Amino acid sequence: MTIQAQWDKFVEKCLSCQACELAESRRNVVVWRGGIKAPLMILGEGPDADEDRLGIPFVGRSGKLLDLLLSSFRLSKDDYHICNIVKCRPPGNRVPTREEAAQCRALLSEQLRLVRPTVYLLMGGTAYKYFTGSDEGITRVRGQWIETNNCYVMPTFHPAYVLRDPRNKPLLWQDFAAVRKKLEELSFLPPLRADDDCGI
Ligand code: SF4
Repeated sequence: MTIQAQWDKFVEKCLSCQACELAESRRNVVVWRGGIKAPLMILGEGPDADEDRLGIPFVGRSGKLLDLLLSSFRLSKDDYHICNIVKCRPPGNRVPTREEAAQCRALLSEQLRLVRPTVYLLMGGTAYKYFTGSDEGITRVRGQWIETNNCYVMPTFHPAYVLRDPRNKPLLWQDFAAVRKKLEELSFLPPLRADDDCGI
């Protein structure tokens, strides 16, 4: 089976998933945007109202900030794969429960096997907590690499948090710069040119 066919089959499975109660109130199952094979996995918490409406992750104000980061650091669509810990919107944008995250983990694990990323950017405390199993606060762990199974995991702030408190913007940029550098060191990307302005 081709990679595209495997991916299409996986997406079909996600779209029909009823494994947790979030299926009852969702408008769309939000699976991904970006490349279906990509060295960088960007992981958020769960779909908000805009993502639920359009079926695409990170499309609202947070998405615009993420897109600014991606373009500032010269990452193109095939360099990254964006998804969330849960694929259906928790009502009222509440944090997904541990049970919901656990139910959706099976799909996320299958997604990771297909995408095969080497570098992970965990955006926000919830993504960090449910992905790593650690309860440490995001402000304590952000900006520090976690190496596991030949992969590199960078926790950072969620763009929505930075929009609420712009004083944290330089830290988000700093973490993204570290991710870009790691992708270069691993030969997934060429070095940035000296005249590239990443807005740091
Ligand atoms: S959140 Fe995940 S596990 Fe729950 S219904 Fe949606 S796709 Fe299935």
